[in-house]
Amino acid sequence: MWNFASYNLLSSFSPAVGLEHFHCDMKRGYTRARKREPKIAKLLKQNNTPQQIGILAQKGVYELHKDSSMLHRRDTLQLVIETIQLSSYSDVVRERVTQILNNYLENPILLGKKVIKLSRGDEGFPEPIFIQQGNYLFNLYAAIDCIFVEEDNTLHILDFKTGKTDFDRRQAYIYLLAASYLYPQRKAIASFYNLENCKHSEAITATAEVLESFQIVMSRLAKQHQQDLQRYRKNSADFKYIFPPNPGVSCGFCPFSSICEFAVVEVAA
Ligand code: SF4
Repeated sequence: MWNFASYNLLSSFSPAVGLEHFHCDMKRGYTRARKREPKIAKLLKQNNTPQQIGILAQKGVYELHKDSSMLHRRDTLQLVIETIQLSSYSDVVRERVTQILNNYLENPILLGKKVIKLSRGDEGFPEPIFIQQGNYLFNLYAAIDCIFVEEDNTLHILDFKTGKTDFDRRQAYIYLLAASYLYPQRKAIASFYNLENCKHSEAITATAEVLESFQIVMSRLAKQHQQDLQRYRKNSADFKYIFPPNPGVSCGFCPFSSICEFAVVEVAA
């Protein structure tokens, strides 16, 4: 089934609070409708430093908890760096991931927790969660980094962050919606932890009503996205109308600015 919704899709439709000025619907068009065109595929591949850091950071945390003795060894940092083959990445990636591992070794927040799921970070797409909203069927993808059990038996879904992006409450709702299907009998909360600045978000909860409304939002999004893709397949000349550009400050951070006819290029004074 092609109908799907995920946090990535949600943020490509509607930006998180504070990121509105970076939003451009045309980026969704390039990323989702035209990703197989060789020049687009190449640009998408080039722009992967933040993803590499996120995946390696998650891999590092996974390795640190794979074996209970790992956190108590003298050579832990070096061992993990070798295991995740950090030397094969760029200087920026190496420096930031080493700092992340050092931060985590100073404050191993999962130590002593009853962890029931810790993802390795490179598993690819998570198993889809099949959802029926009215007559509409779609798959929800929620890549959960970690789940541990609180003392009162509540499931705590923890999402590891890297970089400077603020926590987005909507992502927590996606995890809680996923948990309501995966663990229907269990109470669940979600939170974020930034491995670079060591900031923890508050614990986020959602009532059944909130999750129901959120499910409706996600089903509409899945539907709209499929309609947009179909329109594009039928008439690729309509690309700019289906995925309207929002030229401006966003172009300076856009991986497609070298090929986009609407790109605003800053001219040095
Ligand atoms: S270059 Fe600017 S207008 Fe074009 S897709 Fe990127 S952000 Fe949108």
